[in-house]
Amino acid sequence: MLSDLTLSEEQKAVREAAREFAEKEFPKYAEESDREEKFPFELLRKAASLGFVGLHIPEEYGGQGMGLLAYCLAVEEFWRVDGGLGMILSTTFGSEMILMFGSEEQKEEYVPPVARGEKICCSCFTEPQAGSDIAAVRTSARRDGDNYTINGVKTFITNGSIADYYVVLARTSPGAPKRSMGLSVFVVERGAPGLEAKKLTNKLGIRASDTAEVYFKDVAVPQGNLVGVEGEGFRQAMDFFNLTRIHTAFQAVGIAQGAFELALEYAKNREAFERRLADFQVTREKLAVMRTKIEAARLLALQAAVEADRGKPDPGLTAMAKYFAARVAQDVVSESLQIHGGYGFMGDQAISRMYRDVRVLEIYEGTREIEVELLARSLLGELPSKLGAVRRHPLR
Ligand SMILES: Cc1cc2nc3c(=O)[nH]c(=O)nc-3n(C[C@H](O)[C@H](O)[C@H](O)COP(=O)(O)OP(=O)(O)OC[C@H]3O[C@@H](n4cnc5c(N)ncnc54)[C@H](O)[C@@H]3O)c2cc1C
Repeated sequence: MLSDLTLSEEQKAVREAAREFAEKEFPKYAEESDREEKFPFELLRKAASLGFVGLHIPEEYGGQGMGLLAYCLAVEEFWRVDGGLGMILSTTFGSEMILMFGSEEQKEEYVPPVARGEKICCSCFTEPQAGSDIAAVRTSARRDGDNYTINGVKTFITNGSIADYYVVLARTSPGAPKRSMGLSVFVVERGAPGLEAKKLTNKLGIRASDTAEVYFKDVAVPQGNLVGVEGEGFRQAMDFFNLTRIHTAFQAVGIAQGAFELALEYAKNREAFERRLADFQVTREKLAVMRTKIEAARLLALQAAVEADRGKPDPGLTAMAKYFAARVAQDVVSESLQIHGGYGFMGDQAISRMYRDVRVLEIYEGTREIEVELLARSLLGELPSKLGAVRRHPLR
């Protein structure tokens, strides 16, 4: 396959190892974690001991230093088997902000334990009134001598009730001329007085993954916990999403691939009208189209990751890859369920879980509509074509 030609032997080995790990370990946890909305810490520890958690984090900060693409290939393999469990291995989420913009002291303190899977990170942007429009963030960080005092509420935060480190976007200059100005990023440690989290339950999908509301009530953080430059938080967040959306594109490729394989197997074995489903022209076309869409999505995602690993992440390309892969994933998972008929509709089937899990991919890390808007802005020359900050702080 063309997508294979781009990969080094090392990257192919990571992909193989991730596939083997997911196929062997995930079935032990998938159903129960989904049903009980339980984060399987044991699985995280196993994955960390094999080096899967910090694949993209540089070696000097405790990771494997293999680059974003290697990490994304593992993400694809994990999501191919189970989205919720694939998601629980995103415990480095947020540490990328520290790597890209943090001081040397912050990188040395916070990143290695996260890369080794000993500590869990989360990133807190969304608020009840500020999702797609993150410039509407109201959480405030008021300078108070040598400290900042943080007040506000964040919602839908992945890992929010289990995290050790909270990377938080807050408003430091309420009087700034534009809403996107005057925002800054901080890292807050679990246990800080005034920091509380409440797990949100009964999600539609990715139920193994923890999602929480996080409250900051007069949380004092030292000036040394400011990540990057005061007032540059919005731009830093855009650079951060420009990398993390690439992971999401690979999540989508993975779940689509998994659903396709289930459909193919089912179509070869299920009989109707004294023929296999795979013998009906309509099913054959479905399978062919599914496979084509997945490969196209994979190639776009691959291109976005390769550009990022070259130190030139392109926001237009990233938006295109995330938009297209998430769209393809919805279509493919839905068609796969259709091929499974009534069995696909029953809750105990892997495909019915995928049908629920896939939905989030067009919502988080930029909704479908926001990705399209970003892409349009890039086409119209309204976005910088390459983001300079990331170029200065590559992940490898
Ligand atoms: C499971 C899960 C995990 C998440 N994890 C995190 C996390 O770890 N950290 C974090 O900070 N956030 C997280 N989020 C939040 C997620 O990023 C937001 O839900 C997302 O950005 C959308 O924001 P919203 O839900 O407020 O929807 P809104 O922004 O209110 O959007 C509602 C609808 O309006 C559309 N819309 C909004 N603006 C426009 C526009 N300009 N043009 C056209 N259409 C528009 C949207 O596309 C959407 O369809 C998570 C969400 C979920 C569901």
